[in-house]
Amino acid sequence: MLRARVGGGRAIIRMDRVIIVGAGPAGLTAGMLLAENDIPALILEAEASVSDDLRASTFHPPTLDMLKPYGLTEKLIAQGLISPTWQIRMHATGEKALFDLSLIANSTGHPYRLQCEQGKFCRLIVDKFADDDRLEIQFGTTVTDVSQKDEFVELAIERGERQTVEMLTAPYVIGADGAGSIVRESLGLEFEGSTYPETTVLASTTFPFHDYIDGLSNVSYCWSEGGNFALLRLRDFRASTYFVATTFRLMGTPPISRVLESSNRSCVSTRSTSKKPATFR
Ligand SMILES: Cc1cc2nc3c(=O)[nH]c(=O)nc-3n(C[C@H](O)[C@H](O)[C@H](O)COP(=O)(O)OP(=O)(O)OC[C@H]3O[C@@H](n4cnc5c(N)ncnc54)[C@H](O)[C@@H]3O)c2cc1C
Repeated sequence: MLRARVGGGRAIIRMDRVIIVGAGPAGLTAGMLLAENDIPALILEAEASVSDDLRASTFHPPTLDMLKPYGLTEKLIAQGLISPTWQIRMHATGEKALFDLSLIANSTGHPYRLQCEQGKFCRLIVDKFADDDRLEIQFGTTVTDVSQKDEFVELAIERGERQTVEMLTAPYVIGADGAGSIVRESLGLEFEGSTYPETTVLASTTFPFHDYIDGLSNVSYCWSEGGNFALLRLRDFRASTYFVATTFRLMGTPPISRVLESSNRSCVSTRSTSKKPATFR
């Protein structure tokens, strides 16, 4: 790291590392791959720590294969729920298409989906490099502007609650700052695609759906007349707050409210105990 002065008296810190903006799954994976190839990297993350928000929860066979050389797959499996099948089912009739991943066992070392929250994956990478100088992570650091210069990239950052502004330069910057990327915006890059018009409701509950719906997989995409929902089983999402360790994650469009009505609304809470419903339709 070198320092230089520029007009206006503000220090510019010149970094020799690749700077990655964002410590989500993309930024942390990029940082890990660079570091493992002895290319030092610095991740700048706006939040104070890795997010534990319940977001993506499935690792597919190729991902588990790809992560194995980095020692992450076994650690993920230890924290996750192995799910050899997944299904698409009609909620009203129970008809289903069952996908049995054991059938691709000759093509992958991991013929199953692994239910494991993305926050756990992120934390594994943070821990892996805690004492490894090749990957540095600075939390509480928000990138506010990025500009391409002739021979380097310049970044404006704000640190912590005092929001002191600093300037950094780096030979390369990777934008991994998610859907509202400031890197993309600063560089005037297009973001192609469109947003789904539906709103998705996501809830977690300790309610044991598998005891009430025959033949449910750990990952079940359920279709019903008025819309769809997914029942995604997790191993122990914030288990210490539960009396029942089994946790389901619900995602869906409005019909989910009817599912919850019939299962018992009081179960839809990250801290409630499970109660047996009178019926489940
Ligand atoms: C409620 C919810 C449910 C989801 N469910 C699923 C699912 O079931 N399956 C699935 O595949 N995907 C799911 N996703 C999507 C999945 O979470 C994202 O695809 C994934 O997080 C993208 O990873 P990322 O690293 O690109 O971005 P992010 O995870 O968004 O990480 C970006 C990081 O950059 C940081 N950051 C942003 N701006 C700045 C800045 N200016 N300076 C510094 N840091 C910054 C953010 O704090 C964040 O930590 C879900 C998302 C949400 C919100």
